[in-house]
Amino acid sequence: MSYQTDVCIVGAGPGGALLAYLLAKQNVSVILIERHQKIAKAFRGEHLNEEGEAILKKHNLFSKIEKLGMLPMESLEYWENGKLLKKILPDPQVGHLGIHVPQAHSLKVIIEEAKKYPNFTLMTNTKVVDLLINDEKRIYGVQAMCEGKEITIESRLTVGADGRYSTVRQKAGIEVTKRKHGYDLLWARIPAPDGWEPSIKMALIDGYQLSLFTQAMGYVQIGWNIEEGSFPNLRKQPFNTFIEKLIKAFPMLEESVNDSIQSWNDFVLLDVHSNFSEHWGGNGVAFLGDAVHTMTPTGAFGLNSAMKDADCLAQIITPDEINRLDLMQCESERKREIEKLQAIQIEKEKNFATQFVIYS
Ligand SMILES: Cc1cc2nc3c(=O)[nH]c(=O)nc-3n(C[C@H](O)[C@H](O)[C@H](O)COP(=O)(O)OP(=O)(O)OC[C@H]3O[C@@H](n4cnc5c(N)ncnc54)[C@H](O)[C@@H]3O)c2cc1C
Repeated sequence: MSYQTDVCIVGAGPGGALLAYLLAKQNVSVILIERHQKIAKAFRGEHLNEEGEAILKKHNLFSKIEKLGMLPMESLEYWENGKLLKKILPDPQVGHLGIHVPQAHSLKVIIEEAKKYPNFTLMTNTKVVDLLINDEKRIYGVQAMCEGKEITIESRLTVGADGRYSTVRQKAGIEVTKRKHGYDLLWARIPAPDGWEPSIKMALIDGYQLSLFTQAMGYVQIGWNIEEGSFPNLRKQPFNTFIEKLIKAFPMLEESVNDSIQSWNDFVLLDVHSNFSEHWGGNGVAFLGDAVHTMTPTGAFGLNSAMKDADCLAQIITPDEINRLDLMQCESERKREIEKLQAIQIEKEKNFATQFVIYS
């Protein structure tokens, strides 16, 4: 089976889905391909900062997502061994310290809006396995597997929005510089107890670094920093040590933790790394988001950066411009910002402990 489209976007994460919607609105024919059947994933970038919020508002998506549920954070707190050291409140002009938006909600709205345009097609359960490359080495689409069958999609532009392990990037032969940060993260999600306020809590407990993010729909997401590569060994030891420390520091969570975390299988491991590519496109292909600049979770920049990339690309892609796109316009502006953000992440990670200092 073979399909034709103006733009083929690989990956229905926040970046790919948003770009697909914006292009569909601009009369560009788009096929959006996602390997999973369901498009929303748990334990992914869900904290929206002011910039992500502004993009969703600019495209009239924010209020629709808000109706499905989101939760503005009312404080950022620093805790050490069960004691609150510092509480930061939002700038009144902004009104929050980030907003938790379940990806299930944001992606649902973006895809529903895109589906209003007849020039938009979503293919789920479809995994891109290779690129179509002509004799002049120009990429003109993808080869994918859809329910066991091979399909091809020919396009004037292919967009790699397929995340940190991007197949499109690898098949296009584009290199990334990968950087490890000395830690990995274990995530777990528990129901929020009654009276738990919408907050981000950074905690030091007996030397362990922990973050607790209140989530919309009544949950708390917990992230434990563990030494890089240590999870296989950790798994051989009892998991109770972890949760006992957590309960000691936040007794309010006891029932919820005991009910929800019963084995190591209740944790999800994130192999923390960042990467950066010097090449974000050309020759029939463009990239956005984690595919060319994977961020660490520090500062929650990844989701917001992927959406900013999509917004930037949508401004230069029109039905008339696709074949002679000046991708550099977007690339140089976005690259400068991403380099700055990645440097901020490294600085914040290095100075994690100093954030607990109380200034009088
Ligand atoms: C555990 C965790 C927590 C995070 N927390 C935050 C946070 O709070 N705030 C924040 O801003 N960022 C956070 N991030 C980062 C954020 O999730 C990413 O930066 C963001 O999702 C990147 O968006 P994207 O659209 O580029 O790629 P992704 O969201 O990774 O989407 C890529 C999509 O491509 C699909 N795909 C991959 N390969 C193929 C293929 N071959 N064929 C078809 N489809 C394919 C994937 O299934 C996926 O749906 C977190 C990341 C993780 C892993």
